[in-house]
Amino acid sequence: MSSLKELTRLMKELEDQLVACMRCGLCQAVCPLFAETGREADVARGKLALLSGLAQEILQNPQGVQDHLNRCLLCGSCAANCPSGVKVLDIFIKARAILAGYMGLSPLKKAIFRGLLSKPDWFNRIMAWGAKFQGIFVKPVDDLLGSSCARFMSPLLSDRHFKPLAPVPWHRQVPQLDIAPGASNLKVTFFVGCLIDKIFPQVGEATLTVLEHHGVGVYLPAGQGCCGIPALSSGDTQTFKNLVRLNLKLLDDPAAPCDYLVTACATCSSTIKNLWPLMMQDAPPEEQEKVAALAARTLDISQFLVDKLGVATAVLGAENGKIALTYHDPCHLKKSLGVAAQPRVLLQANPHYVLKEMPESDWCCGCGGSFNLQHYETSAAIGKRKRDNIAKSHARVVATGCPACMLQITDMLSQAGMRVAVKHTVEIYADMFHSG
Ligand code: SF4
Ligand code: SF4
Repeated sequence: MSSLKELTRLMKELEDQLVACMRCGLCQAVCPLFAETGREADVARGKLALLSGLAQEILQNPQGVQDHLNRCLLCGSCAANCPSGVKVLDIFIKARAILAGYMGLSPLKKAIFRGLLSKPDWFNRIMAWGAKFQGIFVKPVDDLLGSSCARFMSPLLSDRHFKPLAPVPWHRQVPQLDIAPGASNLKVTFFVGCLIDKIFPQVGEATLTVLEHHGVGVYLPAGQGCCGIPALSSGDTQTFKNLVRLNLKLLDDPAAPCDYLVTACATCSSTIKNLWPLMMQDAPPEEQEKVAALAARTLDISQFLVDKLGVATAVLGAENGKIALTYHDPCHLKKSLGVAAQPRVLLQANPHYVLKEMPESDWCCGCGGSFNLQHYETSAAIGKRKRDNIAKSHARVVATGCPACMLQITDMLSQAGMRVAVKHTVEIYADMFHSG
């Protein structure tokens, strides 16, 4: 259980923020969950109404409140479109922390978050075992998408088509780096993130390729941990803060000063920029300052390449012979960070591709991290809407900037047998330097 002091602080902050909601209901039109279920309890307005009586509700039916709060993708569509500027995500995150603090974590979550996630060495070792023996339980299903499915009936994996763990994770391919700046005169710290490390190491490789091409110095400290979002989404502020501190020590090393912190994961970027400062408000002032300074210089790789290095769209010629490509806006990039133009510039910098926009490119893909694990049917129903929109674009490749979205879109395309490749935006740009 969290300290009473912390619970009281969070409860007070929550009360102050809740009054901003006018109950206008405009969030209904943009909530991907409400679009599937039509339930008022699923939309932001319904959840905020529940939270306005939290002190009472928490005593009467804490489990019920927690179940309601967990029915949310934390996609931020409501917050991005709220006319009153209600900080819906901040409120939901704090409310989850209050609930977990009051009720405690389940033994499974405790074991995963505190036993594994907060100890990167152990986490890496367990995942290495998983990669070695996963072939016993899963089998390949689609070579273009590189997806697999369960070999035997499995309640955990159900019908999912997923990307298996990479045989050699990124941290084993490139344990650490310290490269001096080249022509750009800039140096960045590269925060890798769990999904790129363990499932999509090729995205890490593409990131290094483009940084090297532009003469950018790279500092990649060994021993990086998770950004903390899985733990925080479950209300585990203790693990979250431990991970912030562990990463802060590595990423903010006075011996390796860098101009920017760059990530190729939209979720990691938005967590470092928005949630690290939000949840470290009770830390000592010096630590808060460090977190705020790091957050201020954190950029998504597409932002860094376009805004800081001036990468521009190629001269657009005839479309003949080019590969049709479409783009999915990750919620954590567009709605949380306002980054939507830069990835499109990056994609169009490669003259071998032509961008064909899909309808509703910024409609959530339905992943939502733990939401996909707890509510797979609803998550997949939202994902199918994304898949249908990808089909309407007639593209052969779908690009996006978040590894979690890549997983969800791969699942949807693979289950439907659609021959559309899923790539990270930076892979498309890096492709220029491989294909010449
Ligand atoms: S969260 Fe915003 S959009 Fe939704 S009901 Fe409240 S004020 Fe309206
Ligand atoms: S965060 Fe997304 S899923 Fe949750 S209430 Fe807001 S719009 Fe709906």
